[in-house]
Amino acid sequence: MDADVAILGTGTMGSMAAWRLAKRGVSVLGFDQFAPGHDQSGAGGESRIFRTAYKEGAKYVPLLLRARELWRELEAETGIPLLTLNGGLMMGRDTTPGMVNVLATAESFNLDHEILTPRQVADRYPVHRLDPGEIAILDKAAGFLKPELAVLTAAAQAERLGARLMRYTKIRDIEPDANGVTLHSDNASWRVGKLLVTAGAWTRNLLVNSADDHKVVRIVLAWYVPKRPELFSPEAFPIFIREKDEIDFCGWPMVNGTSVKIGRNGSHGIVADADLLDRSVDASWMVRWRRMIERYLPDLHPHPVRIGAYMDGWTASGDPFIGPQPELPNTFSMYGFSGHGFKMAPALGEVAADLVTGAKSNFDLSPFAIAKSRYTSSVPRQIFVP
Ligand SMILES: Cc1cc2nc3c(=O)[nH]c(=O)nc-3n(C[C@H](O)[C@H](O)[C@H](O)COP(=O)(O)OP(=O)(O)OC[C@H]3O[C@@H](n4cnc5c(N)ncnc54)[C@H](O)[C@@H]3O)c2cc1C
Repeated sequence: MDADVAILGTGTMGSMAAWRLAKRGVSVLGFDQFAPGHDQSGAGGESRIFRTAYKEGAKYVPLLLRARELWRELEAETGIPLLTLNGGLMMGRDTTPGMVNVLATAESFNLDHEILTPRQVADRYPVHRLDPGEIAILDKAAGFLKPELAVLTAAAQAERLGARLMRYTKIRDIEPDANGVTLHSDNASWRVGKLLVTAGAWTRNLLVNSADDHKVVRIVLAWYVPKRPELFSPEAFPIFIREKDEIDFCGWPMVNGTSVKIGRNGSHGIVADADLLDRSVDASWMVRWRRMIERYLPDLHPHPVRIGAYMDGWTASGDPFIGPQPELPNTFSMYGFSGHGFKMAPALGEVAADLVTGAKSNFDLSPFAIAKSRYTSSVPRQIFVP
């Protein structure tokens, strides 16, 4: 046996699982086709929103609260700041499903929050313009994470605790059996007791689901320079999500010293194969986004200085799949985080560590049970040159 547990994909979830497993003294062998901290997958794009009053529903809140503790634990172990809690504004009519959930979770979990009228928003956060009938909910335990640094930090900490991570090693095939799992790259094989698949957008290339409910979705982000930088510093400008009938968008403060990142929530196209993501962004996108910036954030220059296309695995419900992989002995997986998984990653690393070691989880994972899926070994083998 080469290790107790192999982790296939040491990106967001895999790096956190490696850290949590290594901390328990489990021998871990992790594989990534790139190196932990790369920006080619779910973790690319400089910043990620963290929030606890959750528009996606109450089932996530225990994971989010545990994640916050674990982000702090990772920071304390490594001395590297990763999570900034500068607050989060959820804006829209109080009748939209997202706003209803934000308010319900804030109240039922007693989360520190404030409801702001349009006048209060204008006084405190003058860059935002609420329309009549809209409110804002300030989630005081929201903020942002540095994703590439966080993945790299968790992976490095896992290695310090004894995990072995193989970089630039693409796994082409897996062979689970009653006694363990064999993994193959183009030129080597490894034998382990259990396998955790955390391959993100590439999961479909390794585990093909019977249902058509896990897709790879393209997400475009754009960075805009403020006309008045002082209004967009982390101290002045909380992360925000704005739900409107015709438009649904979000933003981060100026974390890089020059520009503010804006995203539009939801899918920007389906990607047939994660290896073939089109990273170019047509100028027509920016013409459409310009109207949004001019109307809702007029204190930004409306032409972006940086644009990028990224991707994530997406499910029809927006809920991930987490658990033992049906029909594949000794194989577990977690995927389909549908554009909102990063903030919970350390808690999910803990969940993964419980799953593969057979420990009881502290969380209700029933909403995330994996749909019946089948295994294919038809991934074409190619020569991979690092
Ligand atoms: C643009 C964008 C913005 C987002 N914003 C937020 C946000 O603000 N807040 C939030 O909470 N979430 C956000 N998300 C979602 C979150 O970032 C993702 O859900 C999360 O990063 C997915 O993690 P993962 O581990 O499933 O995938 P990844 O982090 O992509 O990790 C998968 C890893 O597997 C490796 N791999 C795949 N196949 C193989 C193979 N065959 N062999 C070896 N290695 C392999 C890859 O190289 C990669 O490193 C956003 C996502 C995107 C794309």
